[in-house]
Amino acid sequence: MHIVIVDSSRVVLKIISALLEPRGHTVSAFTDSAAALTFLTETPTVRVLITSLEVRPVGGLELCWSARLLAEARRPLYVITMSSARNARNLAEALDSGADDFIDKPPGAEELHARLRAAERLTTLQNELIRLAETDPLTGLLNRRAFFARVGDAADRTGNHGTMSAVLADIDHFKRINDEHGHDVGDAAIRSVADILGAEGIVGRLGGEEFAVVLPNVDLDAAEAVAGRLRHQIKDLRIRGGRGPVRLTCSFGVSAWCEGDGVDALIKRADIALYEAKTTGRDRVVSAASELILAQAG
Ligand code: GH3
Ligand code: MG
Ligand code: MG
Repeated sequence: MHIVIVDSSRVVLKIISALLEPRGHTVSAFTDSAAALTFLTETPTVRVLITSLEVRPVGGLELCWSARLLAEARRPLYVITMSSARNARNLAEALDSGADDFIDKPPGAEELHARLRAAERLTTLQNELIRLAETDPLTGLLNRRAFFARVGDAADRTGNHGTMSAVLADIDHFKRINDEHGHDVGDAAIRSVADILGAEGIVGRLGGEEFAVVLPNVDLDAAEAVAGRLRHQIKDLRIRGGRGPVRLTCSFGVSAWCEGDGVDALIKRADIALYEAKTTGRDRVVSAASELILAQAG
């Protein structure tokens, strides 16, 4: 596991690292708790934080809190505090501040390894639960909720003046595929379309046969080109059916991030464009026109 340890003493950090590294753990050691917190925030692979309560400039309990907030942002992180003055008050305070466990400083080898085995069990389970909660079981794409959460994070990074595009895709006359070839062939068609879309940016299955792709740092023209390529790839698909290969097409709506935008507005504009693609003949790409954007804003 990737483990971060924080203590004001380099000697303590060395002792603990020497216990962990031979067991195959990756250790990042910090004497500065603020640097440790920045590292934790930027490094999602970290599974365990071991921190002394007596650290600076961010105190140990505050570090626990901050780490707990990171863990709540859909990421497993097990927090162990250590203190040489083990007493009930320290223990209660640490646990109330978001720690999962508490050990003596310096920790005994056996106890430390046993507690890390517990940490591994719990974070592995959490990882699996997060994956199940975020994934659409048929396609393996993000489900609607996880998609919007992920896009919200991307929009925060994009900022007001950034570049980002959305492509909505909906399989044409999908009901017919189900009716004529059966639900299993319909499912296989959904999976095949998902496999093609899944190679792009942030991709979610929003509903039955409707998908969304958000492309950070991609402008409207480039997103239109992506949608055009996807349209051809989907048209070229041949789904195995009982009575020979089944073909299908998709309609696409494309929109781009505008100043003062929100994720809902971005997707809404792509949805309006998708509707236009449907009503003007299907199997085509329609971009959200600028007049539409102005009409929305006004
Ligand atoms: P349009 O071109 O206007 O999009 O027509 P459509 O037939 O694709 O759209 P409509 O919304 O009328 O029908 C979508 C169908 O998708 C209805 C529903 O039974 C089917 N569906 C939804 N989820 C699944 C699924 O997981 N598997 C299968 N096989 N079918 C599904
Ligand atoms: Mg459809
Ligand atoms: Mg639909």
